[in-house]
Amino acid sequence: MSTATNPFGLMATPALDLAPTGHLPYVVDQARPHPDTKTVTVLIGRAELDDGKGLCAIWWPVTGVEYDVEAAYDPARISLADAETRLRAQLAERGMQVTEFRNEDAPLTAAQRGPAWIAQYGCNPQCQLDHAGPDGEPGWHSTAPIETQMRDIDSDPDPDGPELPFLGAQVYVSGYRPQAYGRTTKVWVHNGPRTGELTPAKARQVAREMREFAARLDVLCDQAEEIAVGDFEGDPEVYRLDREHEDARIRAITKGRA
Ligand SMILES: [Zn+2]
Repeated sequence: MSTATNPFGLMATPALDLAPTGHLPYVVDQARPHPDTKTVTVLIGRAELDDGKGLCAIWWPVTGVEYDVEAAYDPARISLADAETRLRAQLAERGMQVTEFRNEDAPLTAAQRGPAWIAQYGCNPQCQLDHAGPDGEPGWHSTAPIETQMRDIDSDPDPDGPELPFLGAQVYVSGYRPQAYGRTTKVWVHNGPRTGELTPAKARQVAREMREFAARLDVLCDQAEEIAVGDFEGDPEVYRLDREHEDARIRAITKGRA
């Protein structure tokens, strides 16, 4: 890995340096079991991992900062969600339970942008809208959305519509002339093209029901797989005869109407 293409080069700890074998010390998918367990926060960011071996993600422990592990993934080789899944599994095998992934490439929070920004745009500290850039000043504030890797599952999607996540959510804060209209914090929960504007308590209820539903959906899938064992293809010859018969019937009806 060359530091020229590694945005983490400036933060590199000794663990990032190549070992004498020429391998990085913690290449994802080369895990060993670990007896103890501790919780860790992981800072993850994009990088170009051009080691010539198809490397898609790496991690290394850090100290003296407010997270425990830094990780890099190559978006040309793996999605962020898949990288996080693999990192979570590998760190678990090393006795580390991930409590949070922080995306280094996510937009800055208002708190990170500083008090002048907050004063100018009236943001809550968690707001991640770029009011000076593409997001503008819509009169409300929002955290960056979280979303499923899976895209919308509608069997009949709008062909001209944007590709939307199956599920997404973000904190929405209405802040238009707050002295007159007050401030309201809601959670937007998106399902494909639909959005529910929920109180935080209601959104938590959604999360609880999703967990319960997920368990029931798993059971349903077991049933579906059991039933699907009896599925079969139609006989091409019977299919052909059926189509001929159906076409003749439609022709007869059309002729009768003419
Ligand atoms: Zn804002």
